[in-house]
Amino acid sequence: MPFQSFSFHPKVVAGVTAAGYTTPTPIQAQAIPKIMAGHDLMGLAQTGTGKTAAFALPILHRLMQGPRKQIRALVIAPTRELAEQINDAILDLGNQTRLKSITVYGGVGVNPQIEKLKNGVEIVVACPGRLLDHMSQGTIDLSNLELLVLDEADQMFDMGFLPDIRRILKQLPPQRQTLLFSATMPPEIRGLAREILRDPATVQVDTVAPAATVTHALYPVAQHLKTPLLMQLLKHTDTESVLIFTRTKHRAKRLGEQLEKAGYTAASLQGNLSQNRRQAAMEGFRSGEFQILVATDIAARGIDVSQVSHVINYDIPDTVEAYIHRIGRTGRAARSGDAFTLVSDEDGIMVRAIERTLGAAIERRTVDGFDYAVAAPRKDEEFARPPRPPRVQRPKAKTPAGQGAAAPVHTGKKPAAPANKPSGGKATPSGSVRHPQRSQRSR
Ligand code: AMP
Repeated sequence: MPFQSFSFHPKVVAGVTAAGYTTPTPIQAQAIPKIMAGHDLMGLAQTGTGKTAAFALPILHRLMQGPRKQIRALVIAPTRELAEQINDAILDLGNQTRLKSITVYGGVGVNPQIEKLKNGVEIVVACPGRLLDHMSQGTIDLSNLELLVLDEADQMFDMGFLPDIRRILKQLPPQRQTLLFSATMPPEIRGLAREILRDPATVQVDTVAPAATVTHALYPVAQHLKTPLLMQLLKHTDTESVLIFTRTKHRAKRLGEQLEKAGYTAASLQGNLSQNRRQAAMEGFRSGEFQILVATDIAARGIDVSQVSHVINYDIPDTVEAYIHRIGRTGRAARSGDAFTLVSDEDGIMVRAIERTLGAAIERRTVDGFDYAVAAPRKDEEFARPPRPPRVQRPKAKTPAGQGAAAPVHTGKKPAAPANKPSGGKATPSGSVRHPQRSQRSR
């Protein structure tokens, strides 16, 4: 089934094309026609299945008709990271629509959000706590709401957000279409679905990962030895095509250059690239011209990587979901794949969270003949230490521009990542742990 069969508005089709999507994922194939027909929906799907576009595209299509500058679609998500991710997807896919989407979550200044809400937006992606604050302060007008999405409902339940959700729901116009997405179906979510969905269609897709065909392995190594170890790994492994993930754009760029210097056909994909160069890197990887692609999570979105034989996490991701998502890129369609993760001392909490989710310990491996005892060099400190944690936000400091920004969709501009306070790694019952230094629960 091609995307054309959905009869999306041409401006939405343009977004799909720009994102490089050619074929709908199973959740999209099942859910989009139901949503476009106006049904409430219960979607059982995990991150990595393409569920964001499954609701974002019909929302964008619908909002092309009708009034602007009033909130017509609201997406509620458990964490600020997910809210940003969803907003980014809406901004990308809605690039040509001139619809505006903003994020609303706690831990950042409220005034910029109020300002953007006043200026008029059509889509809001919110975390429950801050949304409730706006509702009780009267700084958000949801009286024109047509579409509500509750994303990762099971995680919202795990995080204790269900009472907040119920409070929010009570104040929303009852005449609306409601879509509820959840990876699992605990009784509480089943109950919530019964309460709030009207005659819903149910769609379910198998979890994309961990695919049984993927072999996981951890390679403990000091930060400053990551690159030499990676080189050894590549030398000794029979790799067809390798997707390497780094945490930052800078690291992706540097590593891509180092791999090229070492004689590999490699490209790096990071947010600073022009659309043309991005396209060229993706095409080159797809065609086999580049054996290795180095990317950040954001930059890797939309890559069709059914051929990837190895995913290597040069840096461990921020969340368990991101790990599952990254490794979901190998071992597709029953091919076998390997997912290697280089881990250093500070990654312990995340490793344990990933293992809890996988339900098994991941094999620790060492590379024979590799000298793990080499001391850190005095120079070249960029790769010799972990990337800097985000700046601590001072209570009275001005909110950095762009946080939760009301970026017009057509500019394609993305709001800056929130500056989080360092916090202790927090495990949720679902095993969803945010990296201790890089994230915190959003209210
Ligand atoms: P999600 O499950 O929404 O987090 O999406 C998982 C990833 O799949 C994201 O990187 C999307 O950009 C990508 N994606 C979503 N739909 C498609 C599609 N039809 N074709 C290729 N990639 C897609």
